[in-house]
Amino acid sequence: MFESFNPTPRILMGPGPSNVSPRVLGALSRPTIGHLDPQFIGLMDEIKQLLQYAFNTENTFTIALSAPGSAGMEACVVNLIEPNDKVIVCINGVFGTRLKENIERVGAQAIIVEDKWGDPVTLDKVEGAFKANPTVKALAFVHAETSTGARSDAKTLCQLAKKYNALSIVDAVTSLGGSELKVDEWGIDAIYSGSQKCLSCVPGISPISFSDKAVEVLKSRKSKVQSWFLDQSLVMNYWSGEGKRSYHHTAPINSLYALHESLLMLKQEGLENAWQRHHNLHLALKSGLEKLNIEFLVDEPHRLPQLNSVLIPNGIDDNTVRTALLSKYNLEIGAGLGQLAGKTWRIGLMGSTANEQNVALLIAALQDVLS
Ligand code: PLP
Repeated sequence: MFESFNPTPRILMGPGPSNVSPRVLGALSRPTIGHLDPQFIGLMDEIKQLLQYAFNTENTFTIALSAPGSAGMEACVVNLIEPNDKVIVCINGVFGTRLKENIERVGAQAIIVEDKWGDPVTLDKVEGAFKANPTVKALAFVHAETSTGARSDAKTLCQLAKKYNALSIVDAVTSLGGSELKVDEWGIDAIYSGSQKCLSCVPGISPISFSDKAVEVLKSRKSKVQSWFLDQSLVMNYWSGEGKRSYHHTAPINSLYALHESLLMLKQEGLENAWQRHHNLHLALKSGLEKLNIEFLVDEPHRLPQLNSVLIPNGIDDNTVRTALLSKYNLEIGAGLGQLAGKTWRIGLMGSTANEQNVALLIAALQDVLS
């Protein structure tokens, strides 16, 4: 016999999703209305404005894609890159590798700048790649590499892209709402994120934003975008503010109620206050972990407050500890990903999960299961 699904509430301190607040879950359960209902169009307009606030941008093309972060990544690549284009892609973890895969799948040439997992992208290497390849169309990199917990210098990387007349494509899936991110000031051309990390919304939506220059590049393409669903020149007509909206696909209506509520919560807290909260809690976590002799993977200046990769102490079994945290404390932390599997744990302090009680509980729980 089947029954309704009733999961045990967990404290989500992994690499995402983070905990969704009761306010956002409340918004999710409101009555579904039509996706072209004037009330819903009004909600979409507010979401665009709230996303502009979260991204620190005035970009007109700032929307929420009806798909997860991976689709945001793919949308940036398939809309702005054409076959035979050259793109510098920085790889210092799993998601840089995924970017490369997307670039190659559109038939473009990926020029790889590689760094050790746990290190940020090396600026000199990127400049070297630009000098060696004068006709590069774009630079693509991950601002906050969730697989390692390293933050790269997005501001300088985008300045480099401008200097060499290339577009910048930035993965902000883990950074949006959790640490400093300034799309206009840093000159980012195309950026994508995810709803399930520091926005603490339900998974499955990808906020994206294109600069006017990126929109121009999209409009002057030689070839059609090969993905109909991700072709942003078609999606624009559904999200555009000019009063005449045309059907493109059926939006995830209730998930957009939830996104609106989570963005409203961010606006009410204040973006810079949210960044500061993540930073403060990272410091609290760090001091607790130090008492347990647990060390970080990433050097201090490059650590992400919202994603803390730590080295599993010698002689400790990864799976035993994570299973004990889950079964005894309903507390989830993340396993290492890719080449860091079995070597690191990833402790997320994202969005509404980032609070003092959770940090204190995790430290006490770790102390218990490690003893
Ligand atoms: N990029 C980064 C940096 C991520 O952390 C993730 C997900 O963890 C993604 C892209 C892909 O997002 P999603 O899992 O929502 O498709």
